[in-house]
Amino acid sequence: MAQVGQQAKSAPFKVYTQRDLDRIEQLSRLSPEARFEMRVVSSVLPFRVNQYVIDELIDWKHVPEDPIFQLTFPQRGMLAPAHYDRVAALLRGGADKDEIARAVDEIRQELNPHPADQMEMNMPRDEEGHRLDGIQHKYRETVLFFPSQGQTCHSYCTFCFRWAQFVGDKELRIASSEAAVLHNYLRTHPEVTDVLFTGGDPMVMKTAHLKSYIEPLLAPEFDHIRTLRIGTKALTFWPQRFVSAEDADKLINLFEAVVESGKQLAIMAHYNHWKELDTEVAQAAIRRVRGTGAMIRAQGPLIAHINDDPAVWARLWQKEVELGIVPYYMFVERDTGARNYFEVPLVRAWEIYREAMQSVSGLARTARGPSMSASPGKVEIQGVTEVAGEKVIALRFIQGRNPDWVQRPFFAKYDDQATWLDHLRPAFGEEKWFWEDEYATIREDKLAN
Ligand SMILES: *Cc1c(COP(=O)(O)O)cnc(C)c1O
Ligand code: SF4
Repeated sequence: MAQVGQQAKSAPFKVYTQRDLDRIEQLSRLSPEARFEMRVVSSVLPFRVNQYVIDELIDWKHVPEDPIFQLTFPQRGMLAPAHYDRVAALLRGGADKDEIARAVDEIRQELNPHPADQMEMNMPRDEEGHRLDGIQHKYRETVLFFPSQGQTCHSYCTFCFRWAQFVGDKELRIASSEAAVLHNYLRTHPEVTDVLFTGGDPMVMKTAHLKSYIEPLLAPEFDHIRTLRIGTKALTFWPQRFVSAEDADKLINLFEAVVESGKQLAIMAHYNHWKELDTEVAQAAIRRVRGTGAMIRAQGPLIAHINDDPAVWARLWQKEVELGIVPYYMFVERDTGARNYFEVPLVRAWEIYREAMQSVSGLARTARGPSMSASPGKVEIQGVTEVAGEKVIALRFIQGRNPDWVQRPFFAKYDDQATWLDHLRPAFGEEKWFWEDEYATIREDKLAN
């Protein structure tokens, strides 16, 4: 028995990309057209999946509807018909590499590769005005750091809003390998209390790399940093990382050292569906991480074809609470990449949120949302209501470029088709949002720099 356990423990990490589509055994049961469609779509959007996801998370009897299949495998509808036809024609006609690359490049540029002005507005500069690559600082308290070794993931989500970072275009990549840049920045910004390591997925890094970023932050000069957060989907895509990977024990020791230093360690786990929480190894990983004193919080977008169903969210939140995870955010799918395939109207998103909330106990009602991470801030849909005879959508900022905007209710004209903030118009015949002029000023300032 021990040996069986040992074997299961040491199953190697095996990953497939576009070139390897034909080597995925389970795909052979799909039609040749379906496989060709995958090849077309994955020429434009990143594709990467590992053996654990294929064998343990996807229910192949229910493909293509299976939510984890939709989460990881390219589908024809993810490209606009014109884009699809263009790439399909090139592949069928045996076009040369360069020609395909040019077409793919043009299509990617049309997919809003950097939504919410991330490149222009969130990147801080040092005293000499040099842009600090790999850092984003949008909200006063929290700095995001993109370690350069963590800019990939154990599998890719088809709907990922950071997809542009995975397609190998250097200019599009936000990354820094320099821990010193991060540490210098934090030293001179005492207002920052939280650092969020993100990517890609920082958990693809070797523990030694992660340690070089994290350990120095435990020194007294960084006492203002109260919380270290790690954004990850490894608890879904490769829970072995925390349990049986070569340096899993070192990782656990590092987590323990953070907690012992008196800081909060928050694992911001990305979950979309309760199926991700069902395997034994996923649950073992959660137990092990929690055993260090780290807190696991769960967040993820609401996505058509994957989880646009109140019953799925209710079961997800309930399961999270059962496993000691705190539901934190329900996001709205962003306006980038394959958004046309995945988006859910804001009003429908709120209905799903509300119905799911109504069917779980109070401990599972801690997720905020549905929330849009737009350029001015995180905007939550609070609900549909009627004010002075007008049907409206009530909104509020959960986070704002100006902290003063946070928690002020504001109203949009009712619109059951809108899927993003820029589709909404102010209610009551008003010309502008209360924050609009101020946001325009902030934006001009940032873009001028
Ligand atoms: C969501 C987010 C944060 C963290 O916000 P919290 O509400 O504190 O979780 C920080 N920076 C950016 C850019 C974000 O999108
Ligand atoms: S794990 Fe996160 S960063 Fe990686 S592909 Fe999924 S959504 Fe994108």
